[in-house]
Amino acid sequence: MQKRIGKEKKKIINKILKIIRENRTFFISSHMRPDGDSIGAQLALSSFLRRLGKDVYIANRDPVPAVYQFLPHSSDIHVAEKVERNFDVAFILDCSDLQRIGNIIDLKNRVRTVINMDHHPDCELFGDYNYVQPQASSVAEELYDLFKQSHWEIVEEEVLALYVGILTDTGRFQEANTTPRCHEIVAELIKKGISPQVVSQKVYESRSGPGLRLLSLTLGTLEITAGGKIAHLSITQEMYKKTGAREEDTEGFVNFARDVEGVEAGILFRETDVGDQFRVSFRSKGRIDVSKIARLFGGGGHRNAAGCTIQGTMEEVKRRMLNAVSQEVDNTGTTKERHSQRC
Ligand code: AMP
Ligand code: MN
Ligand code: MN
Repeated sequence: MQKRIGKEKKKIINKILKIIRENRTFFISSHMRPDGDSIGAQLALSSFLRRLGKDVYIANRDPVPAVYQFLPHSSDIHVAEKVERNFDVAFILDCSDLQRIGNIIDLKNRVRTVINMDHHPDCELFGDYNYVQPQASSVAEELYDLFKQSHWEIVEEEVLALYVGILTDTGRFQEANTTPRCHEIVAELIKKGISPQVVSQKVYESRSGPGLRLLSLTLGTLEITAGGKIAHLSITQEMYKKTGAREEDTEGFVNFARDVEGVEAGILFRETDVGDQFRVSFRSKGRIDVSKIARLFGGGGHRNAAGCTIQGTMEEVKRRMLNAVSQEVDNTGTTKERHSQRC
């Protein structure tokens, strides 16, 4: 297995392009509860491979969220517990470790070459080839560079899928991964015909009624602790039942906790339909590294956006998470103190 890339980007992309040229059957998968980057990257890559005459099969453990179903060929993404087929190559996208694909395929026995494409700083280099760029805003951005290096003109559906990946993973160009590079790429995508307004309507102005009613209940659970530095929101199964909302409707809810003035870290606790299991989402401002906390509990993510799944009662889970987050906030110092260093 090779080392993390960086300067080696051109080389690894060339290797991947060679593997694409020399093989015929491709499997593409991404993480459970897929998001805009995982879906956008899967669709862009599959379109690209199919244009090269490849046989492509895409499958995830969880369905494509409703807001991304406007993307062309989103219905080509299968939902499967296990894929019992052999492939020359598997592309695993946007997964910091293999557990994230939910055991969807036996990679060892069914796939000859595994390509890991990811941008998480803590990504395990589980592939035979690892195109892992923590400085990239998204896998969509990494794919853009790969397409560019192939010298193949990208087509409309790829442009749209890549744009959705970058838009959503940068939190609408607001998160710390919003770089000059990703704006340069987005400028190219807009020149190729993307309407940011239309995409925004599809992705963000398409909340369901039940989802909005759930948001209203969720905002009612807001608690602010640690002297105003931590805010959290909670969702119980009862709240889903009452409103008829689905888990995917909760996309973006955690941001409301972080939005509170003076708050350094926002947390969303979601009770799952598996007994005593909770999904925890963390969002932070500035230097507070919530991925450290998520990792402590078997999860992961980025400095300002991370998550994990843990067992326990709502009370226990909250206590453990709040303790861990307040320790991290104390250790890092406040935004005010940091202001003189760097904004
Ligand atoms: P979420 O709060 O579920 O939107 O997740 C925020 C970020 O944390 C995502 O971009 C994922 O990369 C990462 N993440 C969430 N859950 C996990 C997990 N169980 N393991 C590793 N990374 C995770
Ligand atoms: Mn993702
Ligand atoms: Mn991503």
